[in-house]
Amino acid sequence: MNQAEQSESHGRQAPAITLAEFQELIRRMYLPKDVARGVDGTFMWLIEEVGELASALRRGDQQQQASEFADVLAWLATIANVVGVDLTEAVMAKYGSGCPGCGQFVCVCPDAGKP
Ligand SMILES: [Zn+2]
Repeated sequence: MNQAEQSESHGRQAPAITLAEFQELIRRMYLPKDVARGVDGTFMWLIEEVGELASALRRGDQQQQASEFADVLAWLATIANVVGVDLTEAVMAKYGSGCPGCGQFVCVCPDAGKP
């Protein structure tokens, strides 16, 4: 990406979307198909997308990586819709008061453990 393209893409602001709006968008676009496919099949798609994200992180450019992050988030939202989990509620319940391990907003958990 040259400098002109870079400044253009940074200057063009995408409309903001909340997590709740994104989950609702995915619900509107795909819910009947997702329910018909079921959790197991949908979970396989998520894992396939996680694999594609891994490849993009290793060998992809910024645009490819961004695209794979979007796919992983979309499939995660899909599974949450199928099982009836509100992602905003889930995220706030777990991370809204800080790190689930230490309770701080800047994690102070020991490096050896998963926070
Ligand atoms: Zn912590």
